Amino acid sequence: MKIGVVGGGYVGLTTGVCFSSLGHDVFVVEKVEEKVKKLKEGIPPFYEPGLEELLKKMLMEGKIRFSTNIKEMTEFSEIIFICVGTPPKEDGYPDLSQIEEAAREIALHLRDYRVIVEKSTVPVRTSYWIERTIRLNLHRPVEFDVASNPEFLREGSAIKDFLNPDRIVIGVSSERAKNILLELYKDFQCPKIITDISSAELIKHASNSFLAMKISFANLLSEICEKTGANVEVVTHAIGLDRRIGTDFLKAGIGYGGSCFPKDIKAFIKIGEELGIDMSLLKDVHNINERRIDIFISKLKGALWNIKGKTITILGISFKPDTDDIREAPSLKLSRRLREEGAYLKLYDPKAVENAKREFPENPPEVEYFSDPYLALQNADAACVVTEWEEVKKLDLKEVKRIMRTPIIVDGRNVYNPQLLREAGIEYYPTGIKF
Ligand code: NAD
Repeated sequence: MKIGVVGGGYVGLTTGVCFSSLGHDVFVVEKVEEKVKKLKEGIPPFYEPGLEELLKKMLMEGKIRFSTNIKEMTEFSEIIFICVGTPPKEDGYPDLSQIEEAAREIALHLRDYRVIVEKSTVPVRTSYWIERTIRLNLHRPVEFDVASNPEFLREGSAIKDFLNPDRIVIGVSSERAKNILLELYKDFQCPKIITDISSAELIKHASNSFLAMKISFANLLSEICEKTGANVEVVTHAIGLDRRIGTDFLKAGIGYGGSCFPKDIKAFIKIGEELGIDMSLLKDVHNINERRIDIFISKLKGALWNIKGKTITILGISFKPDTDDIREAPSLKLSRRLREEGAYLKLYDPKAVENAKREFPENPPEVEYFSDPYLALQNADAACVVTEWEEVKKLDLKEVKRIMRTPIIVDGRNVYNPQLLREAGIEYYPTGIKF
C-alpha cells in the first residue's frame, strides 16, 4: 500500500521504516529541512537500536522517501499517519497545534479519498477537531475518513515493538476506513481491537497512566521499605508473580521520565478534570514520582554530609537505556538540583552526551561530560546511578573503588548486587533496600 507519514521523529520514522520493511511504499514528510537532508542520507535524527541499518536498507531498495513537501505526500498516499509532537503546555494540557497544522496542510492538498490516521498521542475527541479542520480547509468536496491508531512502541526497542505489538488498536467511524486499516495490518499476528475513535484515543492515555501508576506504586513501596527494613525488590517480585498484577513496570527507582509518561499523565489529569472528574488517583501517581528526586538527594546527603564542593558522578543521562532521548530525564532534574547545592558534576552517558549538552551546558569544572564511565568516576566523592545502561551495570567495581576519592554509590535503579559492592569496599545505597 502507499503510506504517508507526517513527522519524521521517533514515532513517524519508526512507522515509516517498519511499514516499508513490510513491503509498503512510504513517503515521510518532515518539516525540519536539516532532518530531511540527514534522513535522505540514511541518518536518523536520534539513536534507536537497529533503525539506521533498516533505514539505509529501505532507502537502497527505494521503499521509503523523505521530503518537506506535504502536497506530494498527500497526493502519493492512500493512508496518512499523523505522527507529529503533542508536547505539554504550561497547564499540562497537550499542545495540539502541530496536529492542527498537519490536518490543515493535508486538507489543502486533498483531491481524492484518504484515510487520515492519528498516531500521535492525543486527548479523546481530537479526531472531531481534525475532521472539522480538514473539512473547513478543503478546496472542494472530497471524501475522507479520520481514524485513530495509537502507537505503543517503546524507545530503545521501537522496531521490535512496532513489528510485534501486543495489540493493535484501530478506532474508526466507517467500514471503508476499517477495511483499509485491517488490510494494512493483515499480517500482524496479534489481537486487533476495532472500536470507535474516542475509545481508541482513550486507550493510549489510559495505558500510559496505568503503567506510570505501577511504577509509582513500586516507588511508594520503596519508601515504606526504606523506613522499615523490608526489601522492595523482594516485595515487588513477589506481588508481580500474581498474574493479575505482573512484574513489568513494577520496579522501584528514581522515577519515570521520558517524552511520554510525564506528559501523558499530566494530559490525562487535565482531560479528566475538564470533564468534571476527580483525577486525584493520577495526581498522586505524579506526586510520588516528583518526590523521587528529593528522596534520592536526601540519601546522597546522608552519605556525603555536605553536597557543596563535592564532585558527584551521574551514571546515565538518557531517560532510559538504549536511547539518546533526554526529555524529562531524571538525570537532568537531579543535576540541576545538585548544582544549586554547589556540587561539581561529571555526567556520563554512552549516547546522550550531545543532547544533554544542549539542555544543560558543559561548564568545567562545575559541569563536565564524559563518554567513558571511568573518566567520569575519577576522584568523585559519590556516584549516582540514574540510567541502567549495560555499560553501567558492567563496571569493574574494584577499579571503581580504586579511582573514586570516596567510594560511595547511590543507586536509583538497583543495578548492583549489594553483596558484591560490599566486597569491593564500596558504600552502597540502593533504592528501597535498607543497607
Ligand atoms: P518527535 O518530536 O520526535 O517527532 C515529531 C516530528 O514531527 C518532529 O520531527 C517535527 O519536526 C515533525 N513535525 C511537526 N509538525 C510537522 C508538520 N506539519 N509537517 C511535517 N513534520 C512535522 O515526537 P515523537 O516522540 O515521535 O512523538 C510523536 C507523537 O507520538 C507524540 O504525540 C507522542 O506522545 C507519541 N508517541 C511517542 C512515543 C515515543 O516513544 N516517542 C511512543 C508512542 C507515542
